[in-house]
Amino acid sequence: MTESYPGCRDCLAVYDADSKSLEHNDSCPVGAGIAATTVADKEWFERHPNATEYHRPVSWAESVEYGLRGFPGATHVLVKHLAPSVRARIPYARKAKA
Ligand SMILES: [Zn+2]
Repeated sequence: MTESYPGCRDCLAVYDADSKSLEHNDSCPVGAGIAATTVADKEWFERHPNATEYHRPVSWAESVEYGLRGFPGATHVLVKHLAPSVRARIPYARKAKA
């Protein structure tokens, strides 16, 4: 089975399932949003040097990317600090309170 992924709706970027990367054009708002989110996560860990992970709501740009990657329902992201300048982002859906 060949998996296919749609491209970015705001630029011509196509998700590469092998490298798990999506390279947006410089002018793409999704790419700019991802870059801003990356900086915000880096700064959060700089403010919390003893933390190894934190949870936050998914950003708009991330919600677009996760949709392209087959996880459109993500509401939050678990950000793990793995090593200096290496962070993992794990999207998940937080259930609404009953
Ligand atoms: Zn794009």
